[in-house]
Amino acid sequence: MSANPDPQVLLGDDDVAWTPADATELYRVDAWGAAYYHVNERGHAAVMPTGEDDLSVDIAVVVEDLRARGVPFPVLIRFQDVLQARVRRINRAFSTAIEEAEYDNVYRGVYPIKVNQLHEVVEEVLEAGQPFSMGLECGSKPELIAALPHMEDDQALLICNGVKDATMLRLILAAQGLGKPVLPVLEKYTEFVEFMRLAEELGAVPRLGVRVRLTTSGSGRWRESGGDRSKFGLSIPEIVKLVEVLHSRGHPESLELLHFHLGSQISDIQILKQAVKEITQVYAQLHRRGVPVKFLDVGGGLGVNYDVGYSSDDPGIGYSLQEYANAVVYSVQEVCEQQEVPTPALVSESGRALVAHHSVLVVEVLGAYTKDRIEDDFAASEEDHAIVQRLSETLEWVRQRGGEAPTLAQLSEAYHDAWEARNEADTLFSLGYLDIEPKALAERLYWSICYLVLDRVAALDPDPVPPEFVELEEQLVDQYLCDFSVFQSILDHWAIGQGFPIMPIARLDEEPTRRALLVDLTCDSDGKVSHYVSARDDKRFLPVHALRDGEAYDLGFFLMGAYQDIMGDAHNLFGRVAEAHVYADAEEPGNYYIEKIIPATSIRDMLASVQYFPNDLQRRMNTLIRHKVAEGMIRPKAGTELLEQYMSCFHDSTYYDTRAK
Ligand SMILES: *Cc1c(COP(=O)(O)O)cnc(C)c1O
Repeated sequence: MSANPDPQVLLGDDDVAWTPADATELYRVDAWGAAYYHVNERGHAAVMPTGEDDLSVDIAVVVEDLRARGVPFPVLIRFQDVLQARVRRINRAFSTAIEEAEYDNVYRGVYPIKVNQLHEVVEEVLEAGQPFSMGLECGSKPELIAALPHMEDDQALLICNGVKDATMLRLILAAQGLGKPVLPVLEKYTEFVEFMRLAEELGAVPRLGVRVRLTTSGSGRWRESGGDRSKFGLSIPEIVKLVEVLHSRGHPESLELLHFHLGSQISDIQILKQAVKEITQVYAQLHRRGVPVKFLDVGGGLGVNYDVGYSSDDPGIGYSLQEYANAVVYSVQEVCEQQEVPTPALVSESGRALVAHHSVLVVEVLGAYTKDRIEDDFAASEEDHAIVQRLSETLEWVRQRGGEAPTLAQLSEAYHDAWEARNEADTLFSLGYLDIEPKALAERLYWSICYLVLDRVAALDPDPVPPEFVELEEQLVDQYLCDFSVFQSILDHWAIGQGFPIMPIARLDEEPTRRALLVDLTCDSDGKVSHYVSARDDKRFLPVHALRDGEAYDLGFFLMGAYQDIMGDAHNLFGRVAEAHVYADAEEPGNYYIEKIIPATSIRDMLASVQYFPNDLQRRMNTLIRHKVAEGMIRPKAGTELLEQYMSCFHDSTYYDTRAK
């Protein structure tokens, strides 16, 4: 054993060669990869984009390709085939359930565009969903405006949730006039009154849906407050009143859809079943009163396993896609049979489960911060400062005791001695009694002692580990500085502690011998990833490889496709990252081609969003420089060059540019 070991190295087993299968297990790829992501035999992260055959694309190869094309990092890679595969998979899960149950109606899914509004994503979902008449869901006026022109298929639904003003309601009525099944889901009774008034103005028979306020409420982090306190939905008395109005106008068939939404990431399938049964009872009651509702819409919430089993309060998603579809189909059928009413067409609004898997954010590690340690062969001499000598003795003691298995108490004492000496050095330095060189030596000796003590503690394997050593470990772990912003790219991690799978995209055939805390570019202490998906007990750190000089180290952030890459805030004015849209193709080298690259937000656009404009900035900068030229501080030519240099920055991306020389 070296005299200056790294406690992290000891975590592995030196005797057995590390294989890609070990990496698969360590990063729990099987748990979140969902048949799409895996580690290939070269030790690279790879994707099987269709999830149906064994065509595989090596992500590290795509990344090198993008780098060679000069795409700035971080870069978000969209695997469009994964998106299509998810659309097919969800539709097939429902058709399988429908066939097996001999359910006498169809499934018509809709994609809620708020989950990822990017035009290509919406188009891709619609294209893959075409054979299934997949539709869209919108929750605001701009989303309605974006979605409406895409409703080519007259069978595909456009469901409009959210609060709707008269402009929206009129537009919905107009679209209905075109024969499109554009259904507003009315959330409040007043909205119904307004909708009926506008329909009357137009002389149209309106088509509508209502959100039913259920007694069942969701579970988990994203639970929407259901039940009586919910701000959403019509109560049972309101629904009774609404039906009376429709009857009195002679058009009970206007009410076409009943809807509920339990919130995202439903963790307990029993709650879903309960809600489905409850709404089906409402449906059956209405049917028997001459209101032939066509659609039952069970909302979104189909879960995605990001960080399975990360902690006890997050049990992960305990059901499969097929179980979800079965739960809906069989529950509706059961109630309909019991109430002897025909079955409705089924609608679900799964967003996350459709789009989360398709994108991967690739982030470069810019550097590792480790604590500076002393050389293995360092020995203090008589000439060294007394503090340095003391620390050197302590280090020697811990080293020597290595063979004799020191006790926890002895290690604790050694650590305290070191801490005191270092503290003394700091105090003397700040008072001017210690030179900078011995201070540097004292610090390096201190860190060496800390590493060694932790190593010995780990060998003792105490349970529990004393808090001071837990804390020390957090201080000693490497910080890997990553070229991205938590607030732009993984907002949910910061906001609600959502864990995302993160794994190096190469070197997975090599044991990761270090553990790191990932920190981002923002000047914010929250700009870090605070827990990780791994098979290790300690989820505070990510197992990583030591960086190599002159070699990029890229981390993949997986399952980024839902909510994250659309929600980012402009913390420190970091903008959207560059994007590459990748398609699988067995005929192409590497089994893929890059269809499109979307540049990152430029500094110019980012600044414009907060009202700084190039013309004005240029004028100010120019004035500033001209004054200095007039004062004789710089030559006019240098002034002009400085202005050009400044202005050329406007086109850059907002992130750290590793290509800049
Ligand atoms: C957000 C939302 C969805 C999508 O939920 P997921 O959890 O992403 O499936 C569906 N319907 C409504 C009404 C929503 O607000």
